[in-house]
Formats: sequence, structure tokens, C-alpha cells
Amino acid sequence: MTYTIQNFVAGAFQPVASETASLYNPSTEAVIAKASARSGLDAALRHARQVGGPALRSLTFKQRAEKLKAMVDAIVAIRDPLIEVSVECGGNTRGDAKFDIDGATSTLQFYAQLGESLGDAKIFVEGEPLQLARNPRWVGHHAWVPQDGAALHINAFNFPAWNMLEKAAVALLAGVPVVTKPALPGSLVAARIVEAFHSKGLLADGTFQIVHGSIADQLGLLTVNDSIAFTGSSATAQILRVSDAVVRNGVRLNVEADSLNSVVLGPDVQTDGETYRAFLRDTAREITQKAGQKCTAIRRIFIPTSIAAAVTEDLRAALRDVKMGDPTQEGVRMGPVASAEQHKSVLSGIAALAAEGKVVADPRQFERGYFVTPTLIAADANAKLLHEREVFGPVATVLAYDGTSGTAATLAKRGQGSLQGSIYSDDGEFVADYFAQAGAWHGRIFWGSEKVSEHAAGPGAVLASLHHGGPGRAGGGSELGGLEALKHYGQRVAVQGSRPLLSKLLGNAAVLGSSNVTPAGGVPS
Ligand code: NAP
Repeated sequence: MTYTIQNFVAGAFQPVASETASLYNPSTEAVIAKASARSGLDAALRHARQVGGPALRSLTFKQRAEKLKAMVDAIVAIRDPLIEVSVECGGNTRGDAKFDIDGATSTLQFYAQLGESLGDAKIFVEGEPLQLARNPRWVGHHAWVPQDGAALHINAFNFPAWNMLEKAAVALLAGVPVVTKPALPGSLVAARIVEAFHSKGLLADGTFQIVHGSIADQLGLLTVNDSIAFTGSSATAQILRVSDAVVRNGVRLNVEADSLNSVVLGPDVQTDGETYRAFLRDTAREITQKAGQKCTAIRRIFIPTSIAAAVTEDLRAALRDVKMGDPTQEGVRMGPVASAEQHKSVLSGIAALAAEGKVVADPRQFERGYFVTPTLIAADANAKLLHEREVFGPVATVLAYDGTSGTAATLAKRGQGSLQGSIYSDDGEFVADYFAQAGAWHGRIFWGSEKVSEHAAGPGAVLASLHHGGPGRAGGGSELGGLEALKHYGQRVAVQGSRPLLSKLLGNAAVLGSSNVTPAGGVPS
């Protein structure tokens, strides 16, 4: 029997519209669920503004943090069946599924802890009040208050749990109600989580709602105090940037888009050393984890010319060893890509990149399912497309470079702005030169070296304590990064007035410092 995915809007699950979209198991191509193809965004936004917003704003940070903790508990209670759903509908291995689901709970948990540290405050201020005139009584203080609207979260298909909840954790803690919209291939995982929240009574206050189906023609419903946080392709981001919501209604838009992340192998790295082993292990994992469907996956590999052929061969061997297949089968380490559309798009991307280089792959055949063999394309130094086209699957290009930091930086920059870039080297000077030239073109730089190879999570892991988002084509957005992220859902208000009166007005606010947060306990007068 196929499962029916419902919107949860205005306190109740909504009947599915007659128009439905099907969700397929990407290993077997069997239909597993149907979801409404038309969304109820209008009602959800109204309910968020009228019910969810006031409910959240009446809570202290500590109380909001308790909500986040309750969300964690609700997910943990269904973790095993949820992993199975993720395997069935996303083509994920159990490891991939855990990466998504445990990533969601750990991010919620992280923001719950931060919220707890903010105590009984409901808003926060920056530092101390500033004296504005000769008379010390006239002061100004920057206060951050939650936006008086709804946060619309438009998510990509590849991390239905993490993507939905890393955004929600921050918005809810900031005091802004969420309307979340998953992409179809991940919608069953998102729906199961929402059911779990509902069963624990966490959705009654209108602070978290979900709509399925296209909202492309409804963005004009958003108004000035609403915001959009989008994760997806740069093509969709371009549409959102010129939407009525943004252009006419002044809606705040945060974009986390695609990225041609690169890895640089330093010229100092010996192919029999620990740094090289870390490079090989991490690069192969980035190409095959979630079948390469990660925004932070490595897409471009830059190797010093003298060892390019040998390293390409080592990478090929590492990829050949990855067992592919239906992820419900024992020992499978890479499943199919998530949908028929993805499959088509990845295969056409490989064909396009292949025109600029040589395909290095060991093709494997499957009777059915959306499988793609891990593929390297050894590109020509003059290749252009590999710096322009994101192939969102188990695919990366390999490019030989002259071993200088200048050339490595020039190549990395040709990606026009990346979420992350990684560099493997034990030569601090080489890395410092590279960083000075390419730092501003990345949202994150991962430095792999002998010293951290045992401890580091690898270049593809997004950490809640650190900023996520890259410049340029990566969207120019910012998510996570600790409490700073609350500002994305707040309005900065420069409050001016008498020092004692401001002290009363803002005295219970938390103080957001540059490196830590302490409950204010009163503004010094
Ligand atoms: P996508 O096709 O751009 O879709 C993303 C979301 O936008 C979906 O929920 C989609 O839903 C919605 N959407 C599409 N057109 C829209 C429109 N005109 N108005 C409003 N919403 C619209 O991307 P995807 O295929 O799901 O995800 C893969 C891409 O996401 C890759 O390029 C990847 O690099 C990127 N990604 C980035 C990050 C990051 O953090 N930077 C993380 C994960 C993925 P409907 O199709 O139902 O409209």
C-alpha cells in the first residue's frame, strides 16, 4: 500500500489535494508514497503569523530550548524506523541515513544548549549601551528582536532531516515560527518526523508547519517581516532572487546553493604518508557518501603534475572498492541517486564533462534503479566546464597543476565561490599562501594534515558551531555558526533613550558578545 504524505497546517493534517505527485524507491523504482502536488502555503503563513509567532515570542530562550529538546526526543524515539524510511526512499545506506538524521538531532541539541545558556531572556542585545551625547544619560543600544512574521524554509532533497531541522532549530530559538517545504524525494522522511512531533504534542502552538508540493506561484504571499531560507540549486536561487516576495515585498532571502568545491593536494605530500592517506580516504568518501549528493562534496581535485597519474589511479582503486547496490543489502556502501530526474541529470552531466577530459571509471550494471558508477574525469588543464557545472552525483574531476599555491588558488577561484574548499598539506607556508589568495572565495576551508587526520570530521561535515554558506555561486548565504545565526531571524533595532529607561526596557535581554553569551542580568547604568 502506498503511503499518503499530508501537509500539516493550522494545527491539523490536511486532506491531500486530488493532484498528487509520486515518490519512488530509487533502488527498485517502485512507488512508495504520494504527496499533495499543491501546497497550502497561504493558510500556513497566516497561521504562523497569527498563532505561532505570538506563542514563540512569549517564551524565553530557555523555554524555546526545551521545545528543541523535545523535538530531539521525538526523533530519537523513531530513529530506527526513520533510518529505514530514509534508506527506502532516498537510496541512502544506513550510514548516509544516520548522517542526515543524527545530523538533525545533534544540531537541534546544540541550539537547545545555546538556548539554555540564554536563560530567561526573550531577546538579546549587543554589548554595552553606547553614550551618544556629552550627557551620559542619552544612550543607544543595539537590540535584536525576532522578526514579526513567518520563516519559510525551502529545502533540497538530499538532507530531508538535517536541512529541515538545522534551519528550524535556529528560527525557533530566535522566536520565529517555521513553515517548512521539503523537496519531493525527501518528503517522506520529513513527513515522518512531523508525525512524530505531532504525536508528542509539539505542533499544537502553530510554531512548526509543513507544506508539500510546489510553491513556485505563491511566493508573493510573503510580506516584509517574513523570510525565506532556501537550499537548492543556483538555478532556483536565481528565480527566488527576482521573485515578487524579494523584489517587491522586501522579504529577506538567505541562499545556500550549489558549489564546485575543490581539494588541493599540496606538493609536499608524499604518497606513502598519513596526510596522503587522509586525502585519499576523505576524497573517496566525499565522492561516494550519499552517492555524491552533498552540497559540500568534492567536485574538483587538483593534484601536482608530477604525481597526477599515480594519484588518479589510487583514487580510481579506492572508488572501485566501494560496493554499490540496493542499500537494504548487507555491505552496500553506496546506493543509487535519489530520483529518475537526478539520474538523468547526473548522466548528462558526466557526458558533458567527458567532452573536456578522459573518463576514469569502472562501470557497473544494474537491471533497475537510479544507479551511477563513481566516476572521475581527468580533465585537460584548459577545461572550462568543470569549473562551471555541478554534477550532483558520485562524480569529480581531476586536474593536474604545477604545484604552486598561486595556480592552486587560481583554479579554486574559478568555481566562482564555494561552500567549502579543502587542502591537504603539512607545509604551513604553502597553505598560508593559498589561504591568502583563495580564502575569500570560500565559506569554509578544511586543512587536512598529519596532525588532524585521526580527529577531523572531513571536509563534507557541516558543524553547527561554525558558519555554513559560501560566496558567489554558493549563494552568498549564511547559516549556523552558533548564536550569530539568530540574527538571520531578527531585526536589529538601535534603541535610543535615557540610560535608566533603556536599562528597564532591555535589562532582561541576553548579551551577545563577540565570542560568548552571558545572561545580562541588567544593563549597567
Ligand atoms: P532545487 O531543484 O533547486 O530545489 C530545491 C527546493 O526548491 C525544492 O524544495 C523545490 O521544490 C523548490 N523549488 C524549485 N523551484 C522553485 C520555485 N520556482 N519557487 C520556490 N521553490 C522552488 O534543488 P534540489 O534538486 O532539491 O537540490 C539539489 C541542489 O541543492 C544541488 O545543487 C545542491 O548543491 C544544492 N544543495 C545546497 C546545499 C547548501 O547548503 N548549500 C545543501 C544541499 C543541497 P519543488 O521542486 O517542489 O518546487
